[in-house]
Amino acid sequence: MIFTVAIDGPAAAGKGTISKAVAAYFGYAHLDTGLLYRAVGAKVLAGADPMHAAQTLDPTDLENDALRTPEVAHAASQVAVNAEIRSALVDFQRSFAVRTGGAVLDGRDIGTVICPEAQAKLFVTASPECRADRRFKELQAKGMDVSAAQVLADVIDRDKRDSERATAPLRVAPDAQVIDTSDLTIEQAVAAAIAFVQSRLPH
Ligand code: C5P
Repeated sequence: MIFTVAIDGPAAAGKGTISKAVAAYFGYAHLDTGLLYRAVGAKVLAGADPMHAAQTLDPTDLENDALRTPEVAHAASQVAVNAEIRSALVDFQRSFAVRTGGAVLDGRDIGTVICPEAQAKLFVTASPECRADRRFKELQAKGMDVSAAQVLADVIDRDKRDSERATAPLRVAPDAQVIDTSDLTIEQAVAAAIAFVQSRLPH
């Protein structure tokens, strides 16, 4: 069975948590596509040529805790502006989306560009303040030396770059269900996402 769930939204809206929970609930495979851009960004920070890094990306490059730092997120959003780099990463994502047994992909352009045919599309969002506050607590818990003001500035900066870029900007697909998680608990947000995906399954 091929069934693709596309989950898009801005940084730190809860996409990752929701995507993992949806994948676990339905028994689908999950791909966090932000990791592709982060892995390319990390290689660029280490001195690699961006295009070469994208063309030679290996799935094992994604299994790296060092990809979760604010520096790598920043580098990722910079390489993500480049149309050639984005197109070098398309095939990997599309093959993943149509694997047998169902797939959940989360990112910025999954429902709009990578998988416009996805059977279920969600757009997960929350206010910038709320997202920055969550990301700040997450980074603090990992022992990173960050300030709340800096995290909010980073979130706003990344939103702007992701929404204003010419290629595959962050947009709500016309057929996506929007979930605003600002005032929801994790359980409520996950339940809303599961109920929507369930409603899109063939009867
Ligand atoms: O989702 P995450 O914060 O890991 O993504 C890091 C960066 O990668 C984003 O800010 C965005 O610029 C880029 N990205 C993208 N398209 C995707 C996933 C991530 O442009 N599908």
